[in-house]
Amino acid sequence: ATPTALMVGTARAANMGVLIKNGEALQEASDIDTIVFDKTGTITNGKPVVTDVIGPRKEILQLAASLEDSSEHPLAQAVVAAAKADKLDLTAANNFKAIEGKGVSGSINGQEILIGSEKLFADGNISQEISNQATALQKAAKTVVYVGKNGQAVGLIAIQDAPKPTSKEAMAALTKRGYHTVMLTGDNQDVAQAIADQVGISEVIAGVLPNQKADEIQKLQSAGRKVAFVGDGINDAPALSVADVGIAMGSGTDIAIESGSIVLMQNDLRGVVKALEMAKKTFNRIK
Ligand code: ADP
Ligand code: MG
Repeated sequence: ATPTALMVGTARAANMGVLIKNGEALQEASDIDTIVFDKTGTITNGKPVVTDVIGPRKEILQLAASLEDSSEHPLAQAVVAAAKADKLDLTAANNFKAIEGKGVSGSINGQEILIGSEKLFADGNISQEISNQATALQKAAKTVVYVGKNGQAVGLIAIQDAPKPTSKEAMAALTKRGYHTVMLTGDNQDVAQAIADQVGISEVIAGVLPNQKADEIQKLQSAGRKVAFVGDGINDAPALSVADVGIAMGSGTDIAIESGSIVLMQNDLRGVVKALEMAKKTFNRIK
C-alpha cells in the first residue's frame, strides 16, 4: 500500500472508533487467520453479579465479602456488592493474600479462609454434593467461587457476567469471513464453553493462569497461525504484545491499551470486524 492509502485506511478506521497506532499494525491485520479473545470484559460486559449462594447464605457472603473487600478483582466487587445488598456487616480480615488467577486467602476470627476456584483446594476438600452443584451452575455459564474454612469448602457463590449484546454478531461476521475464533480465559472449562456456545466461538482454552496467556498465543503461532489477540486486563498485556496484532478494548486498563497496536474505542467486538476489513481493503486482500 502507498503511504497515502495507509493514511486513508487509518483515518477511515478512526472514524469508526478503531484506533490503529501505525501502518505496520494495519499490514499485520490484513494477514490474520486466527482471533483469540479474553473472556471477562472483552466478550462479556465485565460487570459480574452474584446469582446464587449454596450453603449458609449469611455466613458464606459475610466471610467472602470480608476478604474480597481487599481485592480489586471484578468477582470480588460482585461479592462485596451482594453482601451490602443483604445488609451484612463485614468482619476484619488479617493476612490478606491475592493468589493470582485462583482467588484470595486470609484469616478471619482465627480461621483460615479461602475464596476462589477449585485450584485453591486439595483433592477431596470439595464435597461431592458441593461439586455437583458447582458443575450445574458452571454449565449454565456461571462462574463458581468456592468459600473454604481451614482448607475445606463450606459453600459457593455463583456469579454471572453476561456477554455483551454485540459479541454474538461480531463472532458470526468473523466466522463468515473465514477467521478461526478462540476464547482464552482463566475461568473454568464448563463456564467458558457455555459462554462460547452462547456467542458462537469455535475453540476454548480455559483454566489458563494469567502468566500463561502469552504462552498460549505463542503455541498457536508455532502451529503456523497468524494471531490477533483481543483483551482488556492487566494480565492480558503480555498476550497483546506477543500476538501478531494486539487489539485492546478502549475501556481496558492503561497497560492493555499501551500494549495493543489497535484500540477499540466503542468496547464492542464489531470493531474487530471493522479493523480487519479496513486492513484487507487497504492492502487489497479482498478477493
Ligand atoms: P479471567 O481470565 O476470566 O480474567 P482470572 O485469571 O482473573 O480470570 O481468574 C481466574 C479464576 O480465578 C476466576 O474465574 C476465579 O475462579 C478465580 N479468582 C481469581 N481472583 C479471584 C477473586 N478475587 N475472588 C474469587 N475468585 C477469584
Ligand atoms: Mg478481561
